Amino acid sequence: MTTHSTTEPISNRLRIVLVGTQHPGNIGSAARAMKTMGLARLVLVAPEKAPNHESEALAAGADDVLAAAATHATLAEAVADCRLVLGCTARSRRIALDELLPREAASRALEGAMAGGEVALVFGRERTGLDNEELQLCHAAVHIPANPAYSSLNLAMAVQVLAYELRLALLATGGGGPAPAGDGDPPASHAELEGFFGQLGDALDAIDFHKGRAPESALRKFRRLFLKADLDSREVRLLRGVLADVERMAMLAARSGGEG
Ligand code: SAH
Repeated sequence: MTTHSTTEPISNRLRIVLVGTQHPGNIGSAARAMKTMGLARLVLVAPEKAPNHESEALAAGADDVLAAAATHATLAEAVADCRLVLGCTARSRRIALDELLPREAASRALEGAMAGGEVALVFGRERTGLDNEELQLCHAAVHIPANPAYSSLNLAMAVQVLAYELRLALLATGGGGPAPAGDGDPPASHAELEGFFGQLGDALDAIDFHKGRAPESALRKFRRLFLKADLDSREVRLLRGVLADVERMAMLAARSGGEG
C-alpha cells in the first residue's frame, strides 16, 4: 500500500503517458507543454525512437521533465498502479467507453488524484493513435471537439489542451497545494481491477453464462458497469470473494451432475 505524503502536490499523481511516439521532437514538445502547466510526470511507452537532440531542442526549458521521463514496454505496465486511466483519441471508435470532453476529463482526473489515486492521461501514436486493445485499458475516452472534417491535432498540442484544462481545474481548487491524505479504503488500482475482470470472465464461463454466444460483448458491458462504480480495494476483494464462491459452487454442481 502506498502512503501519500501530505506535502506532495496533487499534480504528482497526474501522469502524461505517450504511447509509441514516432517523432522524438513531439516528446520534447509534450514535455514543454506539460511544464508550462505545472505537470512533471512524463511516461513513455515503447517510443519508436528514444528521446534525442530533437526532443531536447523542442523541450527548451523543460529538459528536466524530459530527463525524468520513465519508459515502459507496454501501456498495461505504465498504468498498472493507476486508479483512473483516460485515453485521448482523435476520433470516436466502436468501443464501449464513455467519451469525455477535455474539461470533464480534467475534473475527473483531479477528483481521482485528490482522492489519493494515481491518474494517467494517455496519448497515442502520431499516425495511428491508440489501438483498441490499449483503449480497452482506459476507463473513458477523451476527445477534443475539433473540426470534424480535420480532427487530429499534433500530439504535443493535444497534450497542451489537456494539460491546460488540468491547470484550470487545479487552480479552481486553490491550486497545486499539498494533497489531502486519502481517507477510507484506498481506491482499487488498475491491476486489482484487471485481476477482478479476469476472474469475472472465468466465473461466467464456469456457470455457462454465455451459452454459446461470444463472451466479448457481455464482458465489455460488465467492465463498463464496474468501472462506473469507482470501486475501492476492499470492494474489489469482496466481489472476488463472491466470484470464488461462484466458481466453487459451479465445480460442485458439475461434480454432482457427473455422479447423478
Ligand atoms: N491519426 C491518428 C491521430 C493521432 S494524433 C488517429 O486517427 O487516431 C496523436 C494523438 O494525439 C492521438 O492518439 C490522441 O491521443 C491525441 N489527439 C490528437 N487529436 C486529438 C483530439 N481531437 N482529441 C483527443 N486527442 C487527440
